[in-house]
Amino acid sequence: MILTLFKLKALAPKAKELRQTLQSLAAQMKMEPGCESSSVYQQVEDESDFLLIGAWKNREALNDHLQSIRFTVVMGARSLLRRSPEIMIHTVAQSAQLSEVQPKIPAMQVLAQEDGKQAEAFAKAGRHAPCPCGSGRAFKTCHGRDGTDTTHAGTQRKT
Ligand SMILES: [Zn+2]
Repeated sequence: MILTLFKLKALAPKAKELRQTLQSLAAQMKMEPGCESSSVYQQVEDESDFLLIGAWKNREALNDHLQSIRFTVVMGARSLLRRSPEIMIHTVAQSAQLSEVQPKIPAMQVLAQEDGKQAEAFAKAGRHAPCPCGSGRAFKTCHGRDGTDTTHAGTQRKT
């Protein structure tokens, strides 16, 4: 797999316009056959800093992308960019599956245990009892609603 990172710095008044342009480029990248993923990030501290990340099956797929007119237009958008984009290309020989790495990270073990406990609590909860997530609502109107996925109770995780 090949990872591409494009760092772009917008002219201050053009940050919003660059964001829209990059969003549309990333959406286009996703439809290219050799593209495994693409996403746009905007810096929290400085909203004119952007990062466009792409993952490609192989060098040919990446080359097609780098030569596309769309890519060329965005990277050369002098009316939007304060300076030339920084382009980093990393060939990844091996990347560990998340499931192989996660058990070795203590924080992940704690979270997995809590998820397990919460799933158990959800399984036992009565429909009219308070929801185990701690929202204060009845289970039937909170995580016990039909079709609600109780395995990802992310909004109410207790720390
Ligand atoms: Zn709940």
